[in-house]
Order: sequence, then structure tokens, then C-alpha cells
Amino acid sequence: MNLKELKFKGIQVVYYVVCKRKLWLFSKGISMEHFSERVSLGKFLDETSFKDEEDYSDENVSIDFYTTEEGLVVHEIKLSRALEEAHIWQVKYYMYYLSNMSVKVSYGILHYPKQRKVLRVYFSEEDQEELKKILEGIEKILSMPKPPPLEVKPYCKKCAYEEFCYG
Ligand code: SF4
Repeated sequence: MNLKELKFKGIQVVYYVVCKRKLWLFSKGISMEHFSERVSLGKFLDETSFKDEEDYSDENVSIDFYTTEEGLVVHEIKLSRALEEAHIWQVKYYMYYLSNMSVKVSYGILHYPKQRKVLRVYFSEEDQEELKKILEGIEKILSMPKPPPLEVKPYCKKCAYEEFCYG
């Protein structure tokens, strides 16, 4: 993969893992996130936790903060572990994205301050294949003329699109 193929935002990687319908709605500019109390809470947590650390963002990636340890360590702060798998892929995407910018990346850390948990994330060769499939999957979903049908998921009740999908 090259940087041209790494054109998606980290949040799109999260939504691909969480819900393909959500990915489509968000990517087509149908945004309900600003109405969501949960999103506001997540933003508040980002802004108030580790606030003295350096962050990084460009048009695709928005890294909560980074440190260095024989290379860059990518840190992401999250509200809840409910979507942990999706968070892991977001961090892996960031790690791979930065590596493609010739940045030496050591590993990633997911922070769940409310649960007092941290999780280390590594990027393996197998992950590269899996990430390629995810990015191709995102491309395919976005080429659909209509959103994928609603699938009842355990996190629908906490989703910013809940009213849109069930209203
Ligand atoms: S409410 Fe459920 S189906 Fe609708 S976008 Fe959210 S997670 Fe997906």
C-alpha cells in the first residue's frame, strides 16, 4: 500500500469495523455526531486527558498524542472498551500511515482512563494484509449508491445515528 491508498480517516476505519451503515452515512456527510452527548463526552475526555502532550493531525489522521521510545508511540484516548477491536484497528491504521510517511513507529497505546486501562498495540505483517482488506472494504461500501441496510447491533442504542436508523 502507498499513501494514495491510505486516504481514509481513522474514524472511517473505526466505523468500518463497528457498522458499515454508519461508515456510509458518516462518509456521505450525514452527520449526527454533533447531537450526540456521547461524542461530546469523548471530545471532552480527549481535550482534558494528557493535555500537555503533543498531538498530530493532517487531513486523514488525528492522533490524540504521541511520545517517543526508539520511535514514535501513538496514543489514543477512548471513553469505553465496548468498541475495543475497532479502536485497535484505528491505532494500527495510524501506525501504518505514519510508517508510510517514513516515520519510525514503535507501537501504539490505547488509553481507557475511565476504566484505568491501557492496551499496547503492535503492527504485524499479517496486520498489513488485514488492513488492506479493511481499506478495500471501505472503498466498496462508499461506492454503494445507498447505505447498507440496518443491522441490529448491541451498540445501536448508544450510536449517534440511532434516531436516524430507528426513528
Ligand atoms: S444505529 Fe446501529 S445500524 Fe444505525 S448506524 Fe448506528 S450502529 Fe449502525
